[in-house]
Amino acid sequence: MYDSYRDHLAIQLEEIREAGLYKNERVIVSPQGAEITLNTGQKVLNFCANNYLGLSANKKLVEAAKEALDTHGYGMSSVRFICGTGDLHKKLEKKIADFFGTEDTILYAACFDANGGVFEPLLTSDDAIISDSLNHASIIDGVRLCKANRYRYENADMDDLEAQLQQAQEHRFRLIVTDGVFSMDGNVAPLGKIYELASKYNAMVMVDESHSAGVVGETGRGVTELYNLRGKIEIITGTLGKAFGGAIGGFTTGKREIIEMLRQRSRPYLFSNSIPPLVAAAGLKMIEMMTETNELQDRLHHNTKYFMEKMLKAGFDIKPTQSAICAVMLYDAKLSQELASRLLNEGIYVIGFYYPVVPKGQARIRVQLSAAHETVHLDKAIAAFTKVGKELGILK
Ligand SMILES: *Cc1c(COP(=O)(O)O)cnc(C)c1O
Repeated sequence: MYDSYRDHLAIQLEEIREAGLYKNERVIVSPQGAEITLNTGQKVLNFCANNYLGLSANKKLVEAAKEALDTHGYGMSSVRFICGTGDLHKKLEKKIADFFGTEDTILYAACFDANGGVFEPLLTSDDAIISDSLNHASIIDGVRLCKANRYRYENADMDDLEAQLQQAQEHRFRLIVTDGVFSMDGNVAPLGKIYELASKYNAMVMVDESHSAGVVGETGRGVTELYNLRGKIEIITGTLGKAFGGAIGGFTTGKREIIEMLRQRSRPYLFSNSIPPLVAAAGLKMIEMMTETNELQDRLHHNTKYFMEKMLKAGFDIKPTQSAICAVMLYDAKLSQELASRLLNEGIYVIGFYYPVVPKGQARIRVQLSAAHETVHLDKAIAAFTKVGKELGILK
């Protein structure tokens, strides 16, 4: 059988290559940070990590993780409800709830699992989920696993959300679900208006804060902070894999009874392993650091503002945002690839996105800012963008 199946795969892989969509991995041999070393020996400035607070190689987090290795060992060898719950897991769940102003938290191995396991235990075919069209793949998959009726509204389009809510009135319970920050445009979900519509049409709200936790809001508490909605949103999901240290792990935090039900019925929680104690220990340290001072959040906000202002001044077309994702619009797939490749030669590592990752004719370079970037790093990137931008005729 495998002979014919191999040929079948070879044809498909060739099609992916011909379409220019084949993904290659660049190999990094240094810790994650503002400056990284590739296995080619090239040192580059990194502008494509989700390392928003620069914590991926933070010394205090590494120390906390090392200490937990000595006190708690390496792995749990169990799911949570059998014998995979340690004191560090419980402490981290409490800290995450305190951070977001919620009632309780449940940890997962990843936010992909948190989203995959949140809908099915909570809603049935009597209910409705109303989902933003640009929500993350894990939300889409989670919704697919649930029997609730599905409604979809255009990205951040509040007229469309209202129309969908009107249509969904016949169902028992309604849940609106949105990313906090959409990863391609970097736009922040209009949570204030979403909350208003949810109140008007009697619905609950879920926000995925993966790209916004640690980033959005004065103190980095996410979009619920930005819109003064702390404690008012029923369900928040998020990741420990982005701003929060960048290792692994996800969570759902929110209303007490919702979290309680997830502990009873959520399949990725019941049937997948506990996160290692060292990750929980570093997570605790991370929240402690973010609570003690606002230094990292302030630096990230400063860096983002600085970079965007200078890039706009240089003449680039940039999507406005309150996140740390800066979409440099090029509208041409080939141009985005050419620009990214020339920038790498200049020592700036960014990624160009084009169809089907973004709509046709919407190609762009996505720049992700970090608290780890120093002003010299930002200046170097802006200078390289300007130089190559002129060479390629993007700037006059
Ligand atoms: C990155 C991301 C996830 C997945 O998080 P992991 O912890 O890496 O699985 C889920 N949702 C959104 C919106 C994300 O950006």
